[in-house]
Amino acid sequence: MERRCIKIGKNNKDRILELNENKSLSFEDWSALLSEWTEEDLEFSCSIARSSALETFGKKVFFRGIIEFTNICKNDCFYCGIRNSNKNLVRYRLTKEEILACCNEGYHLGYRTFVLQGGEDPYFNDDIMEDIVSSIRHAYPDCAITLSLGERDKGSYQRLFDAGADRYLLRHETADSCHYSQLHPAEMTLENRINCLKDLKDIGFQTGCGMMVGSPFQTTELLAKDMMFLADFKPHMVGMGPFIPHKDTPFRDRSAGSAELTLFLLSLTRIMLPDVLLPATTALGTLRGDGRIKGILAGCNVIMPNLSPTAIRKKYQLYDNKAGTDTDAEESLNILKTQVREIGYEMSSVRGDYIERYGK
Ligand code: SF4
Repeated sequence: MERRCIKIGKNNKDRILELNENKSLSFEDWSALLSEWTEEDLEFSCSIARSSALETFGKKVFFRGIIEFTNICKNDCFYCGIRNSNKNLVRYRLTKEEILACCNEGYHLGYRTFVLQGGEDPYFNDDIMEDIVSSIRHAYPDCAITLSLGERDKGSYQRLFDAGADRYLLRHETADSCHYSQLHPAEMTLENRINCLKDLKDIGFQTGCGMMVGSPFQTTELLAKDMMFLADFKPHMVGMGPFIPHKDTPFRDRSAGSAELTLFLLSLTRIMLPDVLLPATTALGTLRGDGRIKGILAGCNVIMPNLSPTAIRKKYQLYDNKAGTDTDAEESLNILKTQVREIGYEMSSVRGDYIERYGK
């Protein structure tokens, strides 16, 4: 009797299971997975990601307080609402005392990580930043300090680390240099961004990268490249949110990224990097009201509410209609705590550092 060998192609469920098993996929499989996926694939991926996060972190969500301490930036990224060319914006800088007052309020609300986020503002040179970081370090020895200040040289990163900073977030935005040049002015390069990320890791920072989902000119293949970059770089944190246009940027008429695709990619990131600190971003919460909660159910384990003074929040809009700009620090936190509790999770008042459990 003639025996026929029928080759059955992989489906997305197979690819998700393979990712779970091997913590990597080929470029072809990433491209296939991301080009055609269904609601069912999303649910399947979220359920594996959620189990993985539960195994590693339990039903705890780490809360980090973001202090947006300057909206002045020398750069002109095409997607960003606080880009240098935007003249429809009142610029501000917080003083060291104002930053410390935010930390004080945050500490009493239960935060044990402060995230200092700002544009690339030349005023905050190494001397000034070193002073701010070491003041926070001395006042709050039990707290983690995360910085998100953009590109600096290695010596500068080292000084900030030595002053007491623990973590650094620097999104790579896209792992393709041509796409990078479509999102940034010519003087900014992917090469420099990646070198900064490598420097941060070398120094010992818990290092975070990540990309915008649905940014202009992004294709499935470019997202596949991003996922392969994450697999290779092995960041300690991944910040991944949907692109949302800002009215005062060249991308004002572009469509926002998809919340569902963002959730799919978050769940795949959790499956691929089980230990990673993975925030459900404010951008996701801006795109859909339950975005951050859906993010937790897709494997996220971090939420980063705003600790900035209410008076300046509207001046730090990287994109339009940012969530949480009308409520003060305590109110924003309470709303999120309630939402988290409603799905059976709870806020954890610990530093929540990266701990490598897999891959050893
Ligand atoms: S994305 Fe960052 S570096 Fe670029 S303009 Fe905005 S704040 Fe500046």
